[in-house]
This record gives sequence, structure tokens and C-alpha cells, in this order.
Amino acid sequence: VMEAVGMLEKSEVKKLKKEREKILKEVRGIGNLMRGSMYDRERKCGGKGCWCSKSENGHPETMLTLHFKGEQIGIAVPKEKKEEVGAMMKEYDKLWELIEKLTRINLKLIRSDR
Ligand SMILES: [Zn+2]
Repeated sequence: VMEAVGMLEKSEVKKLKKEREKILKEVRGIGNLMRGSMYDRERKCGGKGCWCSKSENGHPETMLTLHFKGEQIGIAVPKEKKEEVGAMMKEYDKLWELIEKLTRINLKLIRSDR
């Protein structure tokens, strides 16, 4: 059910526009980003002489997965890049949250007829 928003009070419009400016400022502060998710797994390398062939455990690695242009992508993330990739994904989530907030405000303002 769509939220019914009628004419807004002038003060409400002013408040929404102020809020919008604040969010746009946050958008401009967004850092490098990318989509995707990471998970840790253990992998058997297949080497007959390797310790992992005799162990329950495998080689630990972090995987990055995402759908990109209709393709499922999965790559290993080097340990030293894990933090950076995680930070990029956080920025992505942050931007999406801001987009949702902006959309909500703009919907109200478009309907406000002022
Ligand atoms: Zn191995």
C-alpha cells in the first residue's frame, strides 16, 4: 500500500529540503565502492603431497562473489586486500541507504505540489 501524502505544509517542505541537502552532502562523501559479498571457505588444492590431502581441513581463503552483467563471478580475495574490499562493500550499502532516503524525500516533495 502506497503511503498517502497530500499537500505538505510549507514548514514541512522546508524541513524535507534541508534533510535532502544533508543526505546529498553524505552522498558526495561516499568513498570507493563495489557490489558483492565475501565469505570464508576452506579449499582442497588437490596436491597429493599437500597436508590438506590428509586433513579434514583445507586451505583457508576468502571468496568474493557477485552477479555481474548476468554472470556469476567468484574470485579469491588476497588476505591483504580483504579489508579494502570489505570497506568498499560497506560504502556500497551506505550509498544504497542514502538513495532510499533520498527517494522517500523526493517522492514526498514531488507529491507536495509546491
Ligand atoms: Zn593443499
